[in-house]
Order: sequence, then C-alpha cells, then structure tokens
Amino acid sequence: MSHEIQSTQSLVSDPESEKPVKIALVRCHIVAEVCSGGGCFKAFNNKTVAFSDYDDSAEMVAAFTCGGCSGRRVKRLCKSVQKFGATTVHLSSCMCKDMDGYAKCPHIDSIKKMVEDLGLSVVEGTHH
Ligand code: SF4
Repeated sequence: MSHEIQSTQSLVSDPESEKPVKIALVRCHIVAEVCSGGGCFKAFNNKTVAFSDYDDSAEMVAAFTCGGCSGRRVKRLCKSVQKFGATTVHLSSCMCKDMDGYAKCPHIDSIKKMVEDLGLSVVEGTHH
C-alpha cells in the first residue's frame, strides 16, 4: 500500500542504545466522538502503514486526544509521557489528511512544533 509518512527521525530502534521505540499516539478530539481509535491500534499491532518500519520491540506507551482545538493538552500530555520513555509521537491520520468527512486539522503545524520543541520526534499518520 502506498502512503506518505513524514518523520523527524528514523523509526527503528536507536542502534547505539538498542532501546525499543516508545510511541505516544495523539488523536483528534473531534473525530474521537465517532472513532474509537481501533484503526490506529490495528495498524500499530500489525506494523502496517505508518508503523511498517518498526520492529516487534516497538511499544505504544500512551494514547490520548489533543483535548480540542487548538491542541489544548498536547504539550502537557506529551511532556507527561516522556516520563514513560516516549520518544516518538504519531499524529493520527485523521489529523493529517482530509478523510471520512473530516477535514485535516488546521492546527497541525503548531501541534507538530509543540511536540518537536519537547525533543520528541513526530510521525504524521497512523493507519491511512
Ligand atoms: S486541534 Fe486539530 S486535532 Fe485537535 S480537535 Fe482541533 S481539529 Fe482535531
């Protein structure tokens, strides 16, 4: 399957530390009214689409919604998940592209910057 994934760093384990990648998933708070996030988790569990470059050592350590426009709790919760070793944040596909009747998040660039400013890498997309 063809897909565009943008990342600020390699998805695989750090070759020097041999530590597994620990991922936090951020989803759109609005879309979460009608979506359980099952598609995102299925893609992670099966290592498909945006998760296809990870090996089996990758862990999903947290999943949460943005808290509402304009990404109200992204910074706070991303900071919090660093305590659990999160190194990479995936922004859900529904945030990154128009799909299923929902428009791409208009705040995506500022949300990305919030996450990157914490020293976390960002991957745009999950299951589409
Ligand atoms: S900030 Fe973006 S991701 Fe969050 S609720 Fe608004 S549109 Fe959805």
